[in-house]
Amino acid sequence: MLQADIWLRGGSLVHEDGRIEKRDMLISDGKIDRIMHPHRNVEVQAKQIINLKGKYVMPGLVNTHTHLFQTWFKGLGRDLKLIDWLAASIRPNAPKLTREDCYYGALLGAMDTVMSGGTSIMDFMYANEKKDSILGAIDALDDLGVRAVMGRGIIDVKLEDENHNRLVETPDQVVEQLDRLRDYVNDKDRLDIGIAGSVFWAISEEGFATIRDYADKHKVTVALHASETDDDNQDSMRRFGMRMFPYLESIGFLQEWLTAVHCVTLDETDMDLIEKNKIKVSYNPMSNLILGSGIPPMEELRRRGVTIGLGTDGAASSDSQDMLEAIKLAAILQKGANQDPTAFKAADVLQMATLGGAHCMGIADKTGSFEAGKRADLFVYNPRCIKSAPVYNPVNSLVYASDTSSVEMVLVDGKVIYRDGRFTNVNQEDVLDWVEDVKAKFDTQDK
Ligand SMILES: [Zn+2]
Repeated sequence: MLQADIWLRGGSLVHEDGRIEKRDMLISDGKIDRIMHPHRNVEVQAKQIINLKGKYVMPGLVNTHTHLFQTWFKGLGRDLKLIDWLAASIRPNAPKLTREDCYYGALLGAMDTVMSGGTSIMDFMYANEKKDSILGAIDALDDLGVRAVMGRGIIDVKLEDENHNRLVETPDQVVEQLDRLRDYVNDKDRLDIGIAGSVFWAISEEGFATIRDYADKHKVTVALHASETDDDNQDSMRRFGMRMFPYLESIGFLQEWLTAVHCVTLDETDMDLIEKNKIKVSYNPMSNLILGSGIPPMEELRRRGVTIGLGTDGAASSDSQDMLEAIKLAAILQKGANQDPTAFKAADVLQMATLGGAHCMGIADKTGSFEAGKRADLFVYNPRCIKSAPVYNPVNSLVYASDTSSVEMVLVDGKVIYRDGRFTNVNQEDVLDWVEDVKAKFDTQDK
């Protein structure tokens, strides 16, 4: 007799590479305990049986890049040039955020991701004058029950901008804050601290060395906005006499802990370095399009075997934390840009949205695919809904014909955190009430 906490019974598993098989799953202590043939004659005693006849179980989706505090800035500064967008959304509003605002912003954004099948999030918190704001975002992710790496922002270069300069810290101060945050999440298994390397031109040579040494020593994931526009390369040429990726290689920064976010303006040498050093890349198609940054050469990177994950980016530049939107856009953008409908096949995109993303976050040993021993992070896909029906191949349907109505249930660490449109650990009406009450302070639009 097999014992289990949860028995997912009678459904089909869709693996991260697109393979589909009729299998049951037993979950115990938050882990995938056993994947087994449904007709095997074994007796199972489970505390909870979830019948999934006609439904699909998929690995939880991984959002490799966002700025959850920006959920407050959804829809602000649209249709403006980069500098005007910043002036209408982030610049005037970020300093107003309290720890409580960061809590509710992160909660609202992460709920959007969970409803779309997301189970893991790599957040990238900007450097902030209020040092405890990041704790609000961490608490929100903890309360909601998702898996997360919280990247702590770093700025150590002064510019001719007083608002920016108030955020500047010394590398020593940054290390002290990172240590403090790692202590804060020490007893929270689902949460890790990473480093959010802001933007290239806001970090000094000493700052890069500090991040590198910290990541080497503590094995934390580092996310860096990289070649989102050509500004990074221009700044690198001016300061160091070479483009950004060659510079990063020269200081030993192209390491396994690095995820390069965006990678829109790459040349051949940059791509060679990414490939050679096995740098992971976070692809954020919605943000690249809304900000007019361009179309990143992801199909070329994919062909070279680079590990790619998908991200929504922050709501200030994407309006959405919905991974199903990100998945569809990720695929069709590369097909169009390459004038090749065989580029970015549905199964490739599913792999990026699951295991590829887990590699980007540095948590592929825990999540991203169905293997006995990994944490049970997954969602149940119900083909019986208007957007998706009729479903012939659930991978194609997931990528091209789905919205949140297909996502019936989400489990993280073997616990149901979302089911039939309701969150288990959070009252969504309370969150929406809070947002409605507070939003006026961020509204900079002409009335
Ligand atoms: Zn970003």
